Amino acid sequence: MPPCEGTGDRAANYPLAPSPTTEGLISPMWSTLCERILAVEAPGAAVERLSIVAPSVVRPGEPFAIRLAGLDAKAYPSVECSAAARPVDGPAAKLPEVQFEAGHPAVGAIEGARIAQEGWHRLAFKLEGRTFVSNPIHCSAEARRIFWGDPHVHTVISRCHPTQCRSLDFCFVGARYMTALDWVCAADHVSNGRCDKGKWEAQRRAVSIFDDPGRFAAVLGYEASLAGGAGGDNNVYCRGDLEDFVDHYEEGNTKTLADALPDDCFLVPHHTTRTGKHGELSDAIYPGPDRMPVVEVHSKWGTSEFRGNPRALLKVHDGPCYVQDLLAQGYPLGFIAGTDTHATMPSSYGDDSAQLYAPPGLTAIRSDGLSREAIFDAIRARDCYGASDERIIIEDSLAGGRMGRVIDRSGLAGPVEIAAEVATRTPIERVDVVRNGEDVHTIEPGEQDWRASVQFADEADLSAVAFDAAGWFDRPFVYYYLRVTCESGAQAWSSPVWTTV
Ligand SMILES: [Zn+2]
Ligand SMILES: [Zn+2]
Repeated sequence: MPPCEGTGDRAANYPLAPSPTTEGLISPMWSTLCERILAVEAPGAAVERLSIVAPSVVRPGEPFAIRLAGLDAKAYPSVECSAAARPVDGPAAKLPEVQFEAGHPAVGAIEGARIAQEGWHRLAFKLEGRTFVSNPIHCSAEARRIFWGDPHVHTVISRCHPTQCRSLDFCFVGARYMTALDWVCAADHVSNGRCDKGKWEAQRRAVSIFDDPGRFAAVLGYEASLAGGAGGDNNVYCRGDLEDFVDHYEEGNTKTLADALPDDCFLVPHHTTRTGKHGELSDAIYPGPDRMPVVEVHSKWGTSEFRGNPRALLKVHDGPCYVQDLLAQGYPLGFIAGTDTHATMPSSYGDDSAQLYAPPGLTAIRSDGLSREAIFDAIRARDCYGASDERIIIEDSLAGGRMGRVIDRSGLAGPVEIAAEVATRTPIERVDVVRNGEDVHTIEPGEQDWRASVQFADEADLSAVAFDAAGWFDRPFVYYYLRVTCESGAQAWSSPVWTTV
């Protein structure tokens, strides 16, 4: 029997995935409103590709939704499409087709899909004669669930490229129904007089309106710029509500800003390498792992991983401002990625294309449930990783722990064991194991080019390769992380694990 089945009951183009508990009550109104927001703010032209999104992790036999969108060249949902997305033989064979209708945004969902047995899958559909493939799906009784989001979206509130940006409403509706994300944050600018009490109230209320625990999480946050050398551009994320934003643009740094915010907020440095806004850190302004748990490794401006990486920002500062520089200074930073879209296109493209230098970023968080608190807690625990352009799965065991952990190896002998399973949508070029800034092991995929299995025992004498105690570490330390690179250019970076020597 083919591994994936769907009931077909909901295979209309329309339903924008109304949630089961509100069905028949408010969902027709909700669907109409959401459809109208997409159609008015982003009416897409002719379809260029079909986006097929399923959860990265599902349980055997558990019903889940497959979300389809016919996107134009800029990735806006087409309003000109009257074709059907038809399942292709293979795992998707038993799924129903989804008929799009001209005049309506080409978004839809198949609800009630099921995979009976454990394994790795991708689902293929045809639209207008071309075949498209979904993100990989790991059907597993035990793997932790992954929720994908974009932590860094700008809307008209930012007053930064206002003619390209869309409304706050579009940020949340687009993230949920167009790019099929699980969560999003409208991290609008506040510095330089770009926010006021009224705009902040609009942000808070939009989060309350669009937050839908269990189905979609709206996270409250903003971008707080600081001077180059004082921490540079940072985003603030809140676990719950925040009565008023705090801005230390004129004078202040990452430490003073963190100190002025409540405990249930943290800062994330972004595009740390940018000239003039560089995010160099020092012990004097590093606010600690609780207040700065992660760094944005990639955005549409480029990748900040290490100097010389092929997707570096166009103009970079010449100081030690890359992510690997910050790790070498002893700051335990996990990784996230976002778009920093100034076209309000969560994890996507849009009218930003004139200043799009790299594929859109997205962040995977691992959690048992989906809520804004769960997103916040997972990122604070570095239970997260960054990716660009596609939903790459990394199931890891790094040095005896999961990504993001600091592992005490005192009393342990033998090599450090690294194991991971990787799955992608487009063909994998390589998977690298990075230790203290060095690629120490590389895997190239086998026959199934969308999957790779990493098994590596690091026999090196860690005391010889460790960085000296610095920053947050009072003993010499070593970090490891994984970098996945696809032939398409899509990438993913696991958060590191650290071990002290
Ligand atoms: Zn901006
Ligand atoms: Zn930004």
